[in-house]
Amino acid sequence: METVETIYDVIVIGAGPGGLTAGLYASRSNLKTLMLERGLPGGQMNNTAEIENYSGFKSIMGPDLSTKMFEGAKQFGAEYAYGDVKEIIDGREFKQIVTSNKTFKTRSIIIATGAEHKKLGVPGEAEFNGRGVSYCAVCDGAFFRNKDIVVVGGGDSAVEEGVYLTQFANKVTIIHRRDALRAQKILQERSFNNDKVEFVWDTVVEEIKGDVIKTNAVHLRNVKTNETTEFPADGVFIYVGLLPNSDQFRSLGITDAEGWIETNETMETKIPGIFAIGDVRKTPLRQVATAVGDGSLAGNAVFNYVEELSENLQKEKTVSVDLPIN
Ligand code: FAD
Ligand code: NAP
Repeated sequence: METVETIYDVIVIGAGPGGLTAGLYASRSNLKTLMLERGLPGGQMNNTAEIENYSGFKSIMGPDLSTKMFEGAKQFGAEYAYGDVKEIIDGREFKQIVTSNKTFKTRSIIIATGAEHKKLGVPGEAEFNGRGVSYCAVCDGAFFRNKDIVVVGGGDSAVEEGVYLTQFANKVTIIHRRDALRAQKILQERSFNNDKVEFVWDTVVEEIKGDVIKTNAVHLRNVKTNETTEFPADGVFIYVGLLPNSDQFRSLGITDAEGWIETNETMETKIPGIFAIGDVRKTPLRQVATAVGDGSLAGNAVFNYVEELSENLQKEKTVSVDLPIN
C-alpha cells in the first residue's frame, strides 16, 4: 500500500455535483485540494437524461452538466484522481484516507459520496439484472425499442424516467404501491398526459420472471385486495429510492441509524475537520442544486477550519519551544 507524502489541505471524496463544487470553492481559496472518485465525475447526473431544474439552464443533459462542472472544478488547480475510499482515520494534525491502493494525508475531509439506488429485494431481481432488470433508463432504455416496460416506484425518478422511456417503448406501465404519487406535480402531469404511460396502483412486484435469456413478466399483488396477477414485461426499471453511500464512515459515529450523515449548517460533522455534503447528508431535499449549495458552504468552511488549525498548531509549537526545560 503506497502512502502519498503530500499533505493536502482538503480531500473531497466523491465528484458528483456536490464534490465538484466543494473542489471548486476550496481550490479557489488557494487550498491544496484533491478530489477522489471511484466512478465518473458527475455522479448520478451521468445517469440522468435531462435536468431542467438547475438554475441557469433551461434544460441540460446530465452528462453535459457533469462535463461542465468537472471542467469548472479543476480551473483553480484542484487535483483529481481515481480512488475508491475504504476508510477514514481521524487525527488532529492530519487525517488519513485509505483507498483500495493508496493512503492519503489531509488536514480536512469533505465526504460527498452521494447515494445509490435501493434494490426491491424480490426473487428474480438479481438473476435478471442486466437481462431485463435495470436501474438506469439513460443507460439501458434504448435496448427496449417497441417493447413493454414496467417501472416500479412512485417518486420523481420513477415518473420522470418512465416518461423518458416512452421514446423507446411501446408502452410504459408504472407500478406503485399506493394510489398517489410522491413525484413533483409537474412530473405527474407529464406522465398523466402521455398516451404511452399507464399506471397500476396499490400494487407491489413480488417476483420478476423470465426465461433463460431475459425477463418476460412480473408477478404482482394488489395490496388492498391481495389479488395476484402475472403482468407481461420485457423490461423492469426499478426506482424505489436511495441508500446513502456511507458504510465506510459508519464507525466514525457521524451517521444516523439509516446511514445518512448528520452535519451542522456549515456542513461539518461532529468530528472537527470532517464535513459532509449532498445526497449522503441528512437533508430534506436531494437535488443537484442542493448538492451544489452544500458544496459551496463546505468549500468555504474548510478554508476557515484549515486556517484555524494551522494557527493553533503553530501556537502549540511556539509554546512548547518557549517552555523552560527542568
Ligand atoms: P452523487 O451525484 O451521488 O455523486 C457521488 C459520487 O461519489 C459518485 O460519483 C460516486 O461514484 C462517488 N463515490 C461514492 N462512494 C465513493 C467512495 N467510497 N470513494 C470514492 N468515490 C465515491 N436532481 C435534480 O436536481 N434534477 C433532476 O432532474 C434529477 N434527476 C435525477 C434522476 C435520477 C434517475 C436520479 C437517480 C437522480 C436525479 N436527481 C436529480 C438527483 C441528483 O442527481 C442528486 O441529488 C445529485 O447528483 C447528488 O449529488 P451528490 O454530489 O451529493 O452525489
Ligand atoms: P424517493 O423519492 O425515495 O421515492 C421512492 C419511491 O419508491 C416512492 O414512491 C416509494 O413509495 C417507492 N418505494 C420505496 N420502497 C418500495 C418498495 N420496496 N416497493 C415498492 N415501492 C417502493 O426516490 P427517487 O424517486 O429515486 O428520488 C430520490 C431523490 O432524487 C429525491 O430527492 C428526488 O427528489 C430526487 N430526484 C429529483 C428529480 C427531479 O428533480 N427532476 C428526478 C429524480 C430524482 P411511497 O411513495 O409509498 O413511499
